[in-house]
Amino acid sequence: MKGTVHYETRGNIALMSVDNPPVNPLSSGVRQGLYDGVNQALEDDAIDAIILTGLNRAFIAGADISEFGAAATEGVGLNEALDKMENSTKPIIAALNGTAFGGGLEVALCCDYRIAAPTAPVGLPEVKLGLLPGAGGTQRLPRLVGAEAAVKAIISGDPIMAPEALAMGIVDRVASGDLIEDATSYANEIIKSGAATRKIRDLEDKIAGDRGNTELFEQFAANLNRTHRGQFAPAQILACIEAAVNAESFDAGMKVEAERFAECLKHPQREALIHIFFAERAANKIPGLDRDVPLMEINTASVIGAGTMGGGIAMCFANAGIPVRIHDNDPENLARGVKVIEGNYARTVSKGRLSQEDMDKRMSLIIPTENFEDLGDGDVVVEAVYENLDLKKEIFERLDKVMKDGALLATNTSGLDVDAIAASTSRPEFVCGMHFFSPANVMRLLEVVKGKDSSPVTLGTAMALGKRLGKVSVMAGNCPGFIGNRMLGGYTRQAAMMILEGATPAQVDKVVYDFGLAMGPFTMNDMVGLDLGWRARKMMGGSNEVTARIPDELCELGRYGQKNGKGYYRYDEGDRTPLPDPEADEVIKRVAEELGYPQKDFSDEEILKRCMYPLANIGAKLLEEGHALRAGDIDTVYVNGYGFPTYVGGPMWFADTQGLENVLADIERFHEETGDDVWKPSELLKKLAAEGKSFASFDG
Ligand code: NAD
Repeated sequence: MKGTVHYETRGNIALMSVDNPPVNPLSSGVRQGLYDGVNQALEDDAIDAIILTGLNRAFIAGADISEFGAAATEGVGLNEALDKMENSTKPIIAALNGTAFGGGLEVALCCDYRIAAPTAPVGLPEVKLGLLPGAGGTQRLPRLVGAEAAVKAIISGDPIMAPEALAMGIVDRVASGDLIEDATSYANEIIKSGAATRKIRDLEDKIAGDRGNTELFEQFAANLNRTHRGQFAPAQILACIEAAVNAESFDAGMKVEAERFAECLKHPQREALIHIFFAERAANKIPGLDRDVPLMEINTASVIGAGTMGGGIAMCFANAGIPVRIHDNDPENLARGVKVIEGNYARTVSKGRLSQEDMDKRMSLIIPTENFEDLGDGDVVVEAVYENLDLKKEIFERLDKVMKDGALLATNTSGLDVDAIAASTSRPEFVCGMHFFSPANVMRLLEVVKGKDSSPVTLGTAMALGKRLGKVSVMAGNCPGFIGNRMLGGYTRQAAMMILEGATPAQVDKVVYDFGLAMGPFTMNDMVGLDLGWRARKMMGGSNEVTARIPDELCELGRYGQKNGKGYYRYDEGDRTPLPDPEADEVIKRVAEELGYPQKDFSDEEILKRCMYPLANIGAKLLEEGHALRAGDIDTVYVNGYGFPTYVGGPMWFADTQGLENVLADIERFHEETGDDVWKPSELLKKLAAEGKSFASFDG
């Protein structure tokens, strides 16, 4: 069996210590040890109370993920161990030395009292894997903290630090000295006071007030629709907490929890979420980049370009405690960039999510400079000037002269040729792409772009730096648009084609929104501004692309998008709700007619396929070309950088769930109907479909 629980006696106290390094998950040996330890203490007349703690870094970090999906497991089940604890006639005091997440907190909730080290976090994060706390967490937590706080804690799944857990009532005390000594004094106080056991299942006062309050739960459900639209597990959690409050008994509530847990377990969203969980971890493993590759030491950073991206990237460094110089050749833009950074931090402070002191500290790490040569101080430089290859080449030629030997030279280009940029330096092995997403200080994704000469040290350092900056880093090959933007091109193109063929922007947007993205492509275009593309095309002498015709004509009519209240939609003053507008629809109809597109009715299913399958087809091409290493990497890019719903698992996972044979048949049909290159089926897709395999099975 895996893991153990040590048992020792200290006078009248039994001390049980969970030992399953590094984070004490609830593996078979731990569950058995909990059961046996409590038995042993109950049988020993000299023992008055039990203290349960963890060795290593955690109390109990949760379930053993390696047991997920395993048919039969050894040892006693968790519920059996918890029953034994909850029915103990001698008080059990949980001494939370570190993380108590998921099943770990549920173990602590089956103890009679809880004392925590000041640094110990607690929480029930099951929702993040499409599950709910299935060992009584949804029934016991509301009895400790009330329905509203329990809904918030379990549906967010976020960690709660010990002082807040104390204020909420999840723990009874926070230790001020040695945890086990404090727990022992606490145990003796309890014994002396005669309070002995205190079973959470019997506590009523925190939930009694909400009993029969249907309005409260309707309100929770309405909130959920806004915050967790389309997600299965949160709604099940809500039903469980409602049962905790309203069911006729604790056991009846536990039955609801067991039923809802089983529903979550077999729901496709759970599989998708677990896929992403493992995909994000796998993305870090790069063939040829062994752990023993010596990484560059990054103590200082430089950023060139103080616009939208440069400012956000500088914040990423400052947030990680790395001093960063930021340079812009336009002093006004530099000053404005620093002001924007300041404003961003100030907003976080005003929301109570950052202290003024921390803001000041971070601002002091950001050093604006008008002097290009000052960039040379950085161990890494990230370039974020305009998206123009000649300009970037010129900047790298200059950086080559000022940066110290061994510095990492990174470009934040959205899709330009990293090799061409690297070739303008005398040290292309030190150059790679570090493609952040907007807003860079918020978005979790970082594409690390591998140039043909980028050395393992350069790439390893960029990947590790991403992690240090709190990002999920994915390695991408150097092709136009890398992974994310290259695929996105197919999606936006198909959306644009569909409105030429008879769909309306509102219809397309609704399908994409209902699928789970925050907004559809036309609402997105209106938000970004149609005029950006229009101006760029004008500068290049115009475009012959059919997909450019509608946005160009809308701009000619002064319809730039949200910024001036009309684009594909119209907007009421001060409101961002897109409203259909006959004037825009008229333009679409006319252009379609002029270009000779026959009009047809689109089903929602057809729209979804036309939007999503280009992603999978281009994703497959990236895999066959080696520009993406795994389908999971592509999915990681899409859920972390493009607002793709995590609970659908990413575009490649979505295609897998539809069956690649079916996906291929649709793609071939679209190719035949439209002749569009986007639909030329990828060889890899054809091969996998013929073999009855999935993208997830592809490993290079
Ligand atoms: P931006 O226009 O907001 O900022 C660019 C800044 O670069 C400006 O302040 C400008 O003064 C400065 N600059 C121009 N030439 C310079 C020079 N020679 N020396 C120093 N500074 C110079 O642009 P942005 O949106 O921040 O984009 C920057 C880069 O990031 C581009 O390559 C873009 O493709 C990429 N990118 C943008 C986004 C996004 O959503 N905006 C996302 C990912 C990547």
